[in-house]
Amino acid sequence: DRRVSARIGGIAESATLAVDAKAKALKAAGRPVIGFGAGEPDFPTPDYIVEAAVEACRDPRNHRYTPAGGLPELKQAIVEKTRRDSGYEVEAAQVLVTNGGKQAIYEAFATMLDPGDEVIVPAPYWTTYPESIRLAGGVPVEVLADETQDYKVTPEQLEAARTDRTKVLLFNSPSNPTGAVYSRDEVEAIGRWALEHGLWVMTDEIYEHLVYDGLETASLPVAVPEIADRCVVVNGVAKTYAMTGWRIGWVIGPRDVVKAATNLQSHATSNVSNVAQRAAIAAVSGDLSAVEEMKKAFDRRRRTIVAMLNEIDGVFCPEPKGAFYAYPSVKGLLGRTVDGVTPQTSAELAELILDKVEVAAVPGEAFGSPGYLRFSYALGDDDLVEGITRVQKLFA
Ligand code: PLP
Repeated sequence: DRRVSARIGGIAESATLAVDAKAKALKAAGRPVIGFGAGEPDFPTPDYIVEAAVEACRDPRNHRYTPAGGLPELKQAIVEKTRRDSGYEVEAAQVLVTNGGKQAIYEAFATMLDPGDEVIVPAPYWTTYPESIRLAGGVPVEVLADETQDYKVTPEQLEAARTDRTKVLLFNSPSNPTGAVYSRDEVEAIGRWALEHGLWVMTDEIYEHLVYDGLETASLPVAVPEIADRCVVVNGVAKTYAMTGWRIGWVIGPRDVVKAATNLQSHATSNVSNVAQRAAIAAVSGDLSAVEEMKKAFDRRRRTIVAMLNEIDGVFCPEPKGAFYAYPSVKGLLGRTVDGVTPQTSAELAELILDKVEVAAVPGEAFGSPGYLRFSYALGDDDLVEGITRVQKLFA
């Protein structure tokens, strides 16, 4: 009498959401918790986007079902935004609007994979990828790149993981959880390798606008145009416009894949909320000044958190070049007794830090790389300094 299917029973809870929920619950109970758990900008959604949504609520057009693949106006706005931001030329028929990047990833894998198809997933990886691949019947194959290589995989490492079952390479730059950003040349080398072996690529560009130090990078199908027919781009408004709760993302891909994924979505969820789609039209058609402002703040916090983490004996944090995460190795803290507790794993260390000094960070176990902690620096400057100071004192 199996109450839950093996397929769904095998899925682990999202560790990042779990840490965030625990921190928020402690906070609600009056504890002075500082949360570095969530990948969520602390800024409000820009006014012009909110205003578009308010207007949309009053517009009777939006009371009704709309096309499953997305509002035509939004798809066209995404086509134009994609040309503007990454120079990738696509048509509206290549766009599917989804309930956030997360749904885009799941639907794209479900559309591309047959049972047993392998997907190469560079680790440390965003916690959702392997679950999403397994749910779609695929097999994630991890390739680890640690801090000694700035958390970036090489074509040689990918080649060593390739088998005759490999169908897709997952690529995420800037990366969650490491903040690694691949240079234009590195993107091209990886894209060429995939092309040479007839692989598909899913490239997750949700942090495209959060790149620091003027680093030159490129969208993979722009660096390697010949791969467009086997390339799926995932993106969304969550991180760029501080719209995590609005739930708008999208898939860009070859027409046949997008059509098939749209059929899936038509049965799974019908259309995405019209009001949120209208807000997203305002977001992607507007300028990038709001994200430029956020980026300045993130850059400042990035420097602060990296410097402060590296002051802790036993912690090593390479400088992240993108997104809003610091991903230090904490291997030097394991096995050390603090306040009567001796953490042996980064999961135990994260628990110790939350229990003793009420600071929430996500352990590397969630990202396929034990021995690390992920700190999101998308929180206020004062909280950031206070939180890391607490951690410093705990291990002083
Ligand atoms: N891709 C990456 C790498 C992410 O970090 C996230 C969110 O944390 C997403 C996709 C999905 O974002 P959303 O579903 O909020 O659009």
